[in-house]
Amino acid sequence: MRVGLIGDPVTHSKSPAMQNAAFAALQIPARYEYWPALAAELPERIASLRATDVLGANVTIPHKRAVMPLLDEISEEARVTGAVNTIVRREARLIGHNTDVTGLVAALAEIGWQGMEQAVILGAGGAARAAVVALARLGAGAICVMARSVRAAQDLVLELAPEARHTSLLWGDLAATERHVWRRMLAGTDILVNATPVGMAHAPGTPLDDAVLNLIAAGTLVVECITHDTPLVRAARARELPALNGLPMLVHQGAAAFTLWTNHPAPLDVMRVAAQAR
Ligand code: NAP
Repeated sequence: MRVGLIGDPVTHSKSPAMQNAAFAALQIPARYEYWPALAAELPERIASLRATDVLGANVTIPHKRAVMPLLDEISEEARVTGAVNTIVRREARLIGHNTDVTGLVAALAEIGWQGMEQAVILGAGGAARAAVVALARLGAGAICVMARSVRAAQDLVLELAPEARHTSLLWGDLAATERHVWRRMLAGTDILVNATPVGMAHAPGTPLDDAVLNLIAAGTLVVECITHDTPLVRAARARELPALNGLPMLVHQGAAAFTLWTNHPAPLDVMRVAAQAR
């Protein structure tokens, strides 16, 4: 049986190593492959998942939303989040799920992170959506979504607001917001999540410039969705801020996907070791 990662780019991903180690540990005859796809190739790639030797797929940047109309059914979690990161084939039907939300909640639980008042999320794509849903579920009083496309941030907020009734959702322009606004916002922020790809090999650097990074309040948890220590994580640690890269989130979202494909509890420790080693 086969599973794969659909996205562009995909070859940086630790998911094949992590999932193949899990299949091997449980002696499940399946393999996880890289399935790179440009936007124009997405319909054909999704159609190929209907083959009887396919368990399903993961979906990553930039297709987590575009994939939704190509599927037969969307789970409640994926509907609420407005993004799909896991597809399961059940007979002839393709079902879209979102395991990024539980991935982030579990990663924060693992470090004993308690509830928060205020959060800032950078980016307005699939990971940002999952982060909004996760942090609202953990009781955030207010979440501000900062993106380079203000329209995308606004759309995200307006769409998710009905699902986050006890959380004030705000949006802003990642690039244009003035220093004094950042100062006021970051002074009361407990957790800052980078859900942009800035920090990956193809998009080096930090999503916030040094002057803004210096405004992050002491004690703020800086969470990176990218699965290694990016310049943002290093800059946060240099300022003695607690910081978490995206590896624990990856392992937990992958574990949830593994269970959806196989109906087996995931071997979490095996997956963590394999992801760390990649
Ligand atoms: P996505 O849906 O494509 O969204 C990316 C967001 O970042 C968009 O708002 C995009 O804005 C913005 N962005 C892109 N390049 C930027 C730049 N140079 N400066 C500022 N903003 C930029 O991608 P995604 O699926 O949310 O993934 C985002 C990151 O999270 C990726 O690095 C991915 O690998 C990681 N991730 C990790 C996990 C995990 O388990 N650890 C899970 C999910 C995602 P535009 O719309 O303007 O392009």
